[in-house]
Amino acid sequence: MTAERILITNATVLTMDPAVGQLENADVLIEDGRIVEIGHGLRAADCDTLDATGAIVMPGFVDTHRHLWQSLIRHIGSDWTHGQYLTGVHLGLSGDFRPEDTQLGNLLGGVEALDSGITTLLDWSHNIDTPEHGDAAVEGLRATGMRSVFAHGGGATMWQLPSEVPHSRDVLRIQAEHFSSDDQLNTMAFALRGPQFSVPAVAHEDWKLIQELGTRVTVHNGDGEWGKRRPVAWMHANGMLNDKVTHVHCSSLAPDEFQMIADSGGSISVSADVEAQMGLGWPATGRALDVGVRPSLSVDVCVSNGGDMFNVMKATISIQRALDNAAEEHAGEQDRVRLSCQDVLEFATIDGARTLGLDHVTGSLTPGKDADVIVVRADSLGMAPLNNPTGALVYSGHPGLVEAVLVRGRFVKRDGVMLRTDVADIQRRADEARDRLFEAALKRESTADARIGGSWIPGIHKVNR
Ligand SMILES: [Zn+2]
Repeated sequence: MTAERILITNATVLTMDPAVGQLENADVLIEDGRIVEIGHGLRAADCDTLDATGAIVMPGFVDTHRHLWQSLIRHIGSDWTHGQYLTGVHLGLSGDFRPEDTQLGNLLGGVEALDSGITTLLDWSHNIDTPEHGDAAVEGLRATGMRSVFAHGGGATMWQLPSEVPHSRDVLRIQAEHFSSDDQLNTMAFALRGPQFSVPAVAHEDWKLIQELGTRVTVHNGDGEWGKRRPVAWMHANGMLNDKVTHVHCSSLAPDEFQMIADSGGSISVSADVEAQMGLGWPATGRALDVGVRPSLSVDVCVSNGGDMFNVMKATISIQRALDNAAEEHAGEQDRVRLSCQDVLEFATIDGARTLGLDHVTGSLTPGKDADVIVVRADSLGMAPLNNPTGALVYSGHPGLVEAVLVRGRFVKRDGVMLRTDVADIQRRADEARDRLFEAALKRESTADARIGGSWIPGIHKVNR
């Protein structure tokens, strides 16, 4: 059998691999799904050639935490507080999601992410109350064609806070039926409630379940008031910190807790845009760097915020630079900015892959790694002349510039068009599902005034802390 070869030519190549660096007018050769060579004047027989003149070629983005199921109800909460979000979504609309809604939400959100250049995503799936919801969530994710980590987070019965209900053991069945190999494009993790959201006995029981599964762990730690209860210190005291744990947010953790994460080899996922919007505390980018942890980035909640990595990168750099400037006696007069555009681009790619334990296969353009590659147009009015590729991407990039996307050497988008999914059909089904969800919401007291259009502001029902 002859090899399948793709040659991308004449691009500005940002490899995110310090050993390879940034190349101008360069080519990337892909063979049987893997990157085999990056350089100038590459030639290959029998290959599919993509002329990327005037474009940037780089690794696909990595989103290390998003609740994909919520894609059907995107933006309804753009003017909500965190409390209104908990009432409107977690005590409200979430209960009406049927398995097919969860599946469609995952498909819609995953396709949106791919279209915008995110090739790897951790789905923090916490609306799976039945085994059927779990299967449907996995199917939806798999149907996107992206590289994904399915993080099993249970459903509403587990999220009455602080929860006294142990994590569903159906997670073991899901692992056995869907994730039998680590070599798959889709792998699995455990979405832990942790000491912020469950009573201690349940946190211990959940930790035992993780040992049975043997997966990596992702846990919300340090979001708003909850984070001030020293959740990381509690995990540390109870032997639950290690290099397979990703701590999401970290906004309201104490300084010594950051050091505990660093000492354990754990990773951090910052969702700067959502943290700013929901009042979870200042994004922890700078505090993570202070203890030597390079954070990864995440979209988190598209009920309120946008779902692409350009948006997230800009929020991350803008907020951290404002914090750094404010900390100076003469704001804005430092000799040098602390956080560079290159840093933020690394957070969004290679540091994300490291956070998910996938940096051996993705996150950079490195010969031998899988070809998760995006081609971003740089000849538009907002990008050209291309005087600083990383600066242009971070400050002027947007999903409309993403011309081509490859996952494991397979085109999922080319010439600006999604190839393997019927986008119009997904959107039509999403509209129908959304309509049904809002009809159902009218029958519940807490969401009796639910409507689309932007005017619905849920009343805040007291949430147990
Ligand atoms: Zn989250």
